[in-house]
Amino acid sequence: MKRLFFLLLLISSAILGRAQTNYVNITNYKVYYGWAHRSPQDWMIIRQFENNGKNFLFLVNPQTLETKIDEAIFYDVKPMTLPVARTYFRTTPYIKAIDKAEKQSKNLQDAGIESGLPKETGISLTADLCPSHRPLDRVIFTDIYKEFQKVETPVPVALSITGVWMRQHQADLQWLKQLQKEHEIYITWINHSFNHRVSAKLPLKENFLLEAGTDINYEVLETEKAMLKNGLLPSVFFRFPGLVSDQQLVYKITDFGLIPIGTDAWLAKGQASQPGSIVLIHANGNEPVGVNDFINLLKSKTQSIAKKQWLLYDLRESVDEEFETDSTKVKQ
Ligand SMILES: [Zn+2]
Repeated sequence: MKRLFFLLLLISSAILGRAQTNYVNITNYKVYYGWAHRSPQDWMIIRQFENNGKNFLFLVNPQTLETKIDEAIFYDVKPMTLPVARTYFRTTPYIKAIDKAEKQSKNLQDAGIESGLPKETGISLTADLCPSHRPLDRVIFTDIYKEFQKVETPVPVALSITGVWMRQHQADLQWLKQLQKEHEIYITWINHSFNHRVSAKLPLKENFLLEAGTDINYEVLETEKAMLKNGLLPSVFFRFPGLVSDQQLVYKITDFGLIPIGTDAWLAKGQASQPGSIVLIHANGNEPVGVNDFINLLKSKTQSIAKKQWLLYDLRESVDEEFETDSTKVKQ
């Protein structure tokens, strides 16, 4: 039912042109929290900005983790501080996921949400687009579509994207957007920081976003702005570069209203996927081992896929369902 809802949503947003909107004249982009209502749905506001003289909100459906950008004028709006908004929406899957990520914030690697529900007979695929001089590994996407075209379209994938990759790989980005436009894949865009700095020498606790001089506001917000400029819809998810963070950094990210997403199956590191796994591969050309492992995994599941016994899950649904209870379920 939910899947159908997302499909309808996708089609309707495509018709309204929202899916392809490029916000190229963004000003006053800022963190802004509150409640927004447009019958029959309540939304949590996490950002506000102007584009060509119009006032826009970045909204989260706290029940489904779906996001959207819309004009403020269409909503009843009540501004709130983040603590007040989190209290107001505390029973929703969105705030429960943030709470859980904060509880799993102490590890130096792989903090945050790292798997979906084990009852799922399939996985959520996340592929990272860290800065790279190599082209996109397009075979991942063409093979996924080939395997799933009779079973599940669009196939959901989540891509963690950096500002630098967007700037340097415009042709690959257009190619991905085209697959989405043709409903072959549906992409959940994860913020993976703008610069994704990494040092070959520094220890992990001083590396990636923990490196001295990191401007976390820039890393988070400039990536969102670059997504919007390129016509990508940001999600509520964030993936730490190198999967490296400390507790303070996790709290900085949740203070942006974002949910850190780890992995329990980094294929290139030899971690096998389980039912409900959040699988990690790199799609930026730098990790052919992981891509091969994933293609082999797909091939080994061909028969299960045909019988709909092994599927790719929408990351939003995987995280959402983990925190859904009957009392918080709303009919869409
Ligand atoms: Zn990365």
